[in-house]
Amino acid sequence: METVVVLLNRDLRVHDHPALAAACAGARRVVPLFVVDPAMPPGHRTAFLAESLADLRRSLRERGGELAIRWGDPVAETMRLAGEVSAQAVHVSDDVSALARRRQRRLAGECERNRMEFLTFPGVTIVPPGALKPSGGGDHYRVFTPYWRAWSEHTRRRVLEAPRAVPFPEKLEAGSLPVSRRGPHGLFRGGETVARERMRSWLKHCVEDYAEGHDDLAGNRTSKLGPYLRFGCLSPLELESLSVNGEEFVRQLCWRDFFHQVTLAFPRINRDDYRARGQEWVDDPDAAQAWKEGRTGVPIVDAGMRQLLAEGWMHNRARMLTASFLVRRLRVDWRAGAEHFFLLLLDGDVPNNYGNWQWVAGTGNDTRPNRIVNPVRQAKRFDPEGEYIRRYLPELDTVPMKMIYEPWRMPRGIRGYPAPLVSMD
Ligand code: FAD
Repeated sequence: METVVVLLNRDLRVHDHPALAAACAGARRVVPLFVVDPAMPPGHRTAFLAESLADLRRSLRERGGELAIRWGDPVAETMRLAGEVSAQAVHVSDDVSALARRRQRRLAGECERNRMEFLTFPGVTIVPPGALKPSGGGDHYRVFTPYWRAWSEHTRRRVLEAPRAVPFPEKLEAGSLPVSRRGPHGLFRGGETVARERMRSWLKHCVEDYAEGHDDLAGNRTSKLGPYLRFGCLSPLELESLSVNGEEFVRQLCWRDFFHQVTLAFPRINRDDYRARGQEWVDDPDAAQAWKEGRTGVPIVDAGMRQLLAEGWMHNRARMLTASFLVRRLRVDWRAGAEHFFLLLLDGDVPNNYGNWQWVAGTGNDTRPNRIVNPVRQAKRFDPEGEYIRRYLPELDTVPMKMIYEPWRMPRGIRGYPAPLVSMD
């Protein structure tokens, strides 16, 4: 084949990239392309994306290639560029959200109209969504444990090397990268290079401690690879293949695949209840706002919410208990909370964010939909020294732990800290 355009999206890497590898193996010229949405709001993820694109451009240049950047509608820009370089084919990594599927359908239609090939490849998940079907019938797994069993036994494709050379057409304009307006998320710099360093160090020093340490709020002993998986700076398959002695960690990667296959089957996961159970939500914009700002008067909840505001990040245990507080205690609709997380989280993506929110709200894949998480007990168990709480709520620095755990006992007006919005019994 003469020329292939590889439209990139959540696969910003050169290692283990089936769509790119196939193009490099089979075509004389390869155009890796990213189309920036000009309406992209500035925020934590925008800076991370800009850094990831700059890093990918460097890696492609090292291989004699280039990353073409265009701005606008991804389908229109891809077809324009494909026409310009007389491409015979467009490659993409298959993705699952409603938006991604719509884009893929439109691209397939345009390619057909223009007599180009349109090919999708794996790479966003470990096991392709849709590859596993429950033996009892149905198009996807609704419950995690049987999925985990089938997933663990499923044959993996081979992890691919990065292409040695990426032959980019001469004289094709590269296009300008988005500018990285860096937020205060010092913890995370975007890009495959940082991702691979972090992965190596995690696998060498920390993964064995994961089963014991992952719930330690103050210790923050999880991989923090989420944003890199979100943007595809890392291949989840490569990460899994290297995770020896990390079964509990691999199980988390399986949760990620699980929610991807749920989303493929139920693309309205970000809007509709997966399992409507007749919950009645309370319309309380003031309570929802206090929750977003970390002013509920329940320190462990407020610490989590302030971490999210400051860093675009929150520990999984804190995500669980802040989400549960919103839907179970304040009885605010899960959609309001999920949207806020989605907007701010560096790793915010449709399958994991909305899948987990529905799980917490009891409208999703949870087999115990009435589970209630008690934030006070969670704080005592997972932040026993109050270190996490004090890190994000410095106004409580001098307040004794007993009161921090039982905020209704706190004297009012400690450096403006509010009284609890709801009782905690
Ligand atoms: P680690 O604990 O080191 O886990 C490794 C990887 O496994 C993660 O990076 C992630 O890709 C995957 N993983 C771990 N836990 C889960 C899980 N419960 N569901 C799916 N995948 C998981 N994760 C996201 O990637 N994006 C989101 O938008 C998101 N929103 C969430 C919202 C709520 C309400 C809750 C309770 C959880 C959410 N999670 C989300 C899942 C989880 O909190 C994060 O994946 C994890 O905290 C990321 O930190 P880490 O990379 O250090 O994870």
